[in-house]
Amino acid sequence: MNVVNIREQYTSIISAVIGVSMLLFTGCGGSNPHGRFSALTVNTSQQSEVCEHKVPASACTRCDPSREATFKKVNDWCEPHHVPESQCYPCHPDLSFEPLPQPPADADIKSVSAEKALKGLEKVIAKGKVTVVDFWAIWCIPCRKTEGDLNLLLTHNMKLAVRKIELKDWDDPLATKYLGGTAKLPLLVVFNAKGEEIGRVNGHNPKALESLLNDAEN
Ligand SMILES: [Zn+2]
Ligand SMILES: [Zn+2]
Repeated sequence: MNVVNIREQYTSIISAVIGVSMLLFTGCGGSNPHGRFSALTVNTSQQSEVCEHKVPASACTRCDPSREATFKKVNDWCEPHHVPESQCYPCHPDLSFEPLPQPPADADIKSVSAEKALKGLEKVIAKGKVTVVDFWAIWCIPCRKTEGDLNLLLTHNMKLAVRKIELKDWDDPLATKYLGGTAKLPLLVVFNAKGEEIGRVNGHNPKALESLLNDAEN
């Protein structure tokens, strides 16, 4: 059995229900029979076993249909497949609840509040280090993959700092301020040790990130 390490950040938004523009999702359905991702699937506990449906056992509606009502209530429901949108592999083949690599305990990784982030990224970065500012959202599957990459990078590069900024949705003031023209998440903004912006990566793109980190170190 796999164990899912639910990310620390998730615990802070237990009651949050995340609305997602359907523009984010491709996949089945033309007119909109689909729901929105809620945090219900990922937000159940710190550790959760993955069931035979590859979903956290504590949230799976196929293992326990009595949970369906809770998901339907927040519109996290895929009508064509009769599962929560946040558990629907046919619509979202990239879904993954596998454990992520964890950063070392002394890694320089911090979540930044929206309030602080809105004051400017120069207030957020770690002076004297290469910093990756990571705009992410709980409903963003490529964000989770990118988080795994960043955790591995932090393991190998102790001079790297990561600052995570969570977006609630595309109407979030943070999105308005920083994501203009950005088509997809995550958005990574890389700064060198002098605090100069070196470049940006959009979506899950480990190669582009690696190349920017090289530029930032030189
Ligand atoms: Zn199940
Ligand atoms: Zn579906």
